[in-house]
This record gives sequence, C-alpha cells and structure tokens, in this order.
Amino acid sequence: MLNRPYDGPLCRAFRGDLARVLVWFEHYQNEVVSRAGLRLVCAKGCRYCCFHWPEDVYSFEGEIAARTIVEQSPERVNEIAAAFRDDEREMERLDEIMGRKLGESTEGAQLSEEDRVELLLASYYRLERPCALLNPDGTCSIYSVRPLSCRIYLNFSDPFFCVPDHVDESDVRTYLLDLEEEASELLDLLHERFVRYKGITGLRPLLARLLESR
Ligand code: SF4
Repeated sequence: MLNRPYDGPLCRAFRGDLARVLVWFEHYQNEVVSRAGLRLVCAKGCRYCCFHWPEDVYSFEGEIAARTIVEQSPERVNEIAAAFRDDEREMERLDEIMGRKLGESTEGAQLSEEDRVELLLASYYRLERPCALLNPDGTCSIYSVRPLSCRIYLNFSDPFFCVPDHVDESDVRTYLLDLEEEASELLDLLHERFVRYKGITGLRPLLARLLESR
C-alpha cells in the first residue's frame, strides 16, 4: 500500500486494500487468542468499549469513517459532530483538572507522560460517555469501517467486568491486542500521506473536524 499511487483514502483501490489488512488483523487476533487457549466473551450489543476514548486513529480511517457517516446518515452529521465536540471539551476539562490535582502531590508531579496519559484515558472511560456512533441496541453504526483502535479491546472474563467501575479489579482479564510494532510503523507512514489535521488522532476530535469540513 505504501508504494501504490492511490487517488486518496476514499478511492476504491485504497478501501479494498485496507479491507484486506483488516481481515488479516482479525485472523491475527483469532490466532493469538486460540493459541493462548483463551475464550473471548465479547459479543454483539456489548457497548462498554465504546465509552473509551480511542486514540491513535489513522488519518485514512477517519476519512473513511466520516464518508460512511455522511452517506449513511446525512441527517445526523451535525448532531454527531456536535456530540464529538462536546466529548473533546470534556476531555480538555478532565485533563486540566487532572493536571492540577497531580501537581498538588510529589508522586503526581513525578508521573511519567505515559502513565499520565493512561490515567487520563481511564478517567475518561469512567465518565461513561458513549461514542456518538453507537446505536441504541449497542452496535456500532460504522462497524465494518471502525478504526483499528476500536478493534483492540478483548475480554476473557465476565462481560460484567467491562463496566468502568470494575475495570481495575485484579481478576479482570481484559486486554488490548494491537498490531505488532512493525505493522503499526508501516501504517504510520501511510497515515502521514493522507493527514489533514496534524496531531489530531483521537477518534472523537478527528471525526468532529472531518464532519464539520464536509
Ligand atoms: S466507532 Fe463504533 S466501535 Fe468505535 S467507539 Fe464508536 S461506536 Fe464504538
């Protein structure tokens, strides 16, 4: 894909190639899970993953998701963009509160950037703000083109433990099964080719901008 001359991320050739990558990713996840002897309990209609703040969304995934929303639900585009903007403001508010609180203690001030981001994402998850693309029946309205960041959450214990209040409990077996680093690096290069909003890689802020600019 890195060497093919696509007419942008929305062209048929690009979308076809990306769909094949997603199929390989699904095979990869299934293989890892089955070789580990684990049993996945994730099922259609379970919506807890969609309280998360998916980060590291690729530019081309955002473009395809935005186009799908516009084609599928033109009457909801403004409402969805506004909901994502609200989420973004909420995240900024949380970040500011957290920065203040952490600054008040020595341990907090010494937290690494990585731990700080993890804490912020976990705090956002606890707010239980569903993604605006979630259907009332708990399914994703853009399921076939949802980003990789939405596909990495896996649970091997009771789905009950995905409720944000329980996610830190010790017997909870929820995992993030992401791409291998080499594959991520290749997709990062592809991302750079199509990026329109530099530095915006959160699903919600990215889609807000793409939908507003349609
Ligand atoms: S895009 Fe779909 S899978 Fe991803 S958070 Fe939103 S509703 Fe959930």
